[in-house]
Amino acid sequence: HAFSGPPVTLTRSRSAVRMAMERTYIMIKPDGVQRGLVGEIIKRFEQRGYKLGALKLYQANEDLLRKHYGDLQEKPFFPGLLKYMTSGPVTCMVWEGENVVRMGRQMLGETNPQASAPGTIRGDFSIVVGRNICHGSDSVASAEKEIKLWFDDNEVLAWKDHSHAWVYE
Ligand code: ADP
Repeated sequence: HAFSGPPVTLTRSRSAVRMAMERTYIMIKPDGVQRGLVGEIIKRFEQRGYKLGALKLYQANEDLLRKHYGDLQEKPFFPGLLKYMTSGPVTCMVWEGENVVRMGRQMLGETNPQASAPGTIRGDFSIVVGRNICHGSDSVASAEKEIKLWFDDNEVLAWKDHSHAWVYE
């Protein structure tokens, strides 16, 4: 069934610290799909211990991208960004876990691949900002907005992850 809890839920840990369990929207851009990096990127999130909440291959249109990148519409690179992002399918994902919004951004690297450390997705697989492979939400609020924008409610699943007790204390 669809994820219906509040955006941020709190779990109890053994150390009695209450941790924020979050969701983030991660998207593999058309260059990442074309270059065969879908499995590699999924692998990094999966192996770290994050939980997949939703996944689909999707052809984005301009209307959706204008909503997604609303704050960038006045930028000189915006027409090029639209062309890039509609040039082929993207892979849309929801990943869940403790602090996953900030950690997800760290795993992606900096917006400009040349400022991205080796070991990050952009730092390992891309060279220029206009072909930087992937998107990740920059805050919990934008994650919730982006998940609603890219997925129908019934595409985002709540399921019991049997490794939870092996990932979290
Ligand atoms: P991020 O994707 O890291 O959150 P922004 O929200 O600032 O970064 O930009 C969104 C996307 O727009 C970037 O990931 C990149 O694909 C594109 N972009 C940003 N700046 C430029 C630029 N100067 N030239 C071309 N494309 C850009």
